[in-house]
Amino acid sequence: MQSSKDILIVGGGVVGLASAHYLAQAGHSIRIIERDPSLGQSCSEGNAGMVVPSHFIPLAAPGVITQGLKWMFNPRSPFFLRPRLSPSLARWIWLFARHSTKGHVERTRELLRDLSLESRRLHVELSEQENFPLIQKGLLMLCRSEAGLEEEAEVADHAHSLGLEAEVCDAARVRELEPGAEISAKGGVWWPQDCHLSPGHFIEALRKFIQSKGGEFITGEVTQLAASNGKAESVTTKTGETYQAETIVLAGGIDTTGLAKQVGLNLPMQGGKGYSLTLPEPVANPQLCSLLKEGRVAVTPMGDSLRVAGTMEICGKNTSISKPRLQGVIEAFCQFYPQYQPSDFKDLAPWVGLRPCSPDGLPYLGHAPKLSNLIIATGHAMMGLSLAPVTGKLVADLINNAAPKINITQLNPDRFQFVGGNVS
Ligand SMILES: Cc1cc2nc3c(=O)[nH]c(=O)nc-3n(C[C@H](O)[C@H](O)[C@H](O)COP(=O)(O)OP(=O)(O)OC[C@H]3O[C@@H](n4cnc5c(N)ncnc54)[C@H](O)[C@@H]3O)c2cc1C
Repeated sequence: MQSSKDILIVGGGVVGLASAHYLAQAGHSIRIIERDPSLGQSCSEGNAGMVVPSHFIPLAAPGVITQGLKWMFNPRSPFFLRPRLSPSLARWIWLFARHSTKGHVERTRELLRDLSLESRRLHVELSEQENFPLIQKGLLMLCRSEAGLEEEAEVADHAHSLGLEAEVCDAARVRELEPGAEISAKGGVWWPQDCHLSPGHFIEALRKFIQSKGGEFITGEVTQLAASNGKAESVTTKTGETYQAETIVLAGGIDTTGLAKQVGLNLPMQGGKGYSLTLPEPVANPQLCSLLKEGRVAVTPMGDSLRVAGTMEICGKNTSISKPRLQGVIEAFCQFYPQYQPSDFKDLAPWVGLRPCSPDGLPYLGHAPKLSNLIIATGHAMMGLSLAPVTGKLVADLINNAAPKINITQLNPDRFQFVGGNVS
C-alpha cells in the first residue's frame, strides 16, 4: 500500500463523504471540515435519492435553452433562470449555450455512462458493506403526452446504442411494473438499471465508516485557502483556526467556486435550485421511483415515506422559496398520481438545495493546475448522489497515484480557464 497521507476535505456533502470513505479505506488519515453542524444539509440530504445510469445526456444538451426560454415567463414552470446583472452569470449562460449541442452530447455520453455504471456498481457494494437499503427496481420515466412519450422513446433508442437497458412501456405495462399506486400516464420508459435510496441512510453509513477508521469531523466554515511554492498548504476558518494538510480536497458544492478562486482557479458554476417535500404517511406507496416528464418532477419512495422533488432554477446562490413553483411541483405530482391531493402537502416544510451546475453539465474532477496536492471534486448538478461513489473512488485513485478505471481528462477542473471549453 502507498504511504498514509494526512488529508483535509472541505465539505461534508455526499461528494466529500464518498471521497473520505475511499481515502479512509485506503488507510489515509482524514479530516472533514463542514460548515453545518450536521452533514449533508446543503444539497445532499433532501435530494431525490436516485442512482441514474439513465442520465447519460448532460444538462447542457440541444433543446434545453429553447425549452427554458418557453418556461421563463411561467411562474409555475419547473425551469427558471433568475435574471440579474452578473458577469459570472452572463459567462455561465454563454458557456452553457455553446455546449448545448449534439456534438457535446456525442462527446460526453460514453463518459457519463461509464461513470454512472461504475458508480451504480459501487452503490451496490456500499449498500451491502455498510448495510443500508438500495432499491434496485429501476426508474419509470412517465409521460402524459404522446409527444413526451415519443421523445423519451428516442432517448431509450439512444440508450440501447450505448448498451444501456430501457423498455418503452404503454399504460398497461406501467401498471404492471408499479402495483403500489395508481398512475395517470400514457406510458413511459422503464430504466431497469436505475435504483433509489434514502440520502439520509447513505450519509449516515458513510459517516459511521469514516469515524470507524479514525476520520475526524470538524465544524467550521473555511474562508481562506493558502498555497505557496506549487502546493496548497492550509485552510483557515471564519473563526480563525488554521488547518494544514499534505493534501486538500475541495468538495464544497456550489461554494467551491469561491475557494478555488483564491488559488487562481476559475470554476464557473451556478446553483440549480430545487425543492423537495417528504410525505411521512403517503396514501399510496409506489414501489419504483419515477420522473414525471411534463412536470420535471422526481418521486421517490423512501421507506414508509414518499419524497416529491422538482424545479431547476438557475439562481446563483439564492435559496428563497418560490411558492408558485413549489405549487407547480405538487400539482404535477397529483396529476400523475391521482390518489393524491394538493392538500396532502399543506403542512409540509419544503427542503431547498442548490445543485452545483457547471456550464457543460460535467463534474469538475481532478488536480488543480499548478497545485499538485489540491483536488477538486464538484459540479455534479442533478447527479451528485448518483455519482458520489465513483467520484470518491476517483479522488482516492488520484491521491494514491493509481491509474483510474475511467479516463477523466474531460472533467479537468481547468477546462474553462481561458477559453470557452471543448465545443463544436
Ligand atoms: C431537488 C433536488 C433533487 C435531487 N435529486 C438527485 C437525485 O435523485 N440523484 C442525484 O444523483 N442527485 C440529485 N440531486 C443533486 C445532488 O443533490 C447534488 O448533486 C449533490 O448533493 C451535490 O453534492 P456535493 O457534496 O457536491 O455538494 P453539497 O451537498 O452542497 O455539499 C457541499 C458541502 O460543503 C459544505 N461547504 C461549502 N463551503 C464550505 C466552506 N467554505 N467551509 C466548510 N464547508 C463548506 C456545505 O455546507 C455542504 O455541506 C438533487 C438536487 C436537488 C436540489
